[in-house]
Amino acid sequence: MIPAQRIRSLATQWAERHPELATRLEKAVALTGGVKSQGEGVYVVEGVGDEYIVWADPQGKRSTCNCEDSRRGHHCKHRLAVALVFKAETEST
Ligand SMILES: [Zn+2]
Repeated sequence: MIPAQRIRSLATQWAERHPELATRLEKAVALTGGVKSQGEGVYVVEGVGDEYIVWADPQGKRSTCNCEDSRRGHHCKHRLAVALVFKAETEST
């Protein structure tokens, strides 16, 4: 279980470095509870009434998502949610 506080402080740090992502980070924090690892870098991100698939490399540096926002080239909230969970998990071990 990842502490919500850890996720929250990571999101705050990232938003300071990337102000353009602040709104998406805010939404991503809410999605972190719905991130489920399927193994092999595949994550399911469950939102309210929707579900998207995120693929991330083993270092968590790169990712893709099948949502519309990501297809338009944005760093979507699903990828950010996965990145937050990934970072919080790797730092807590
Ligand atoms: Zn997405």
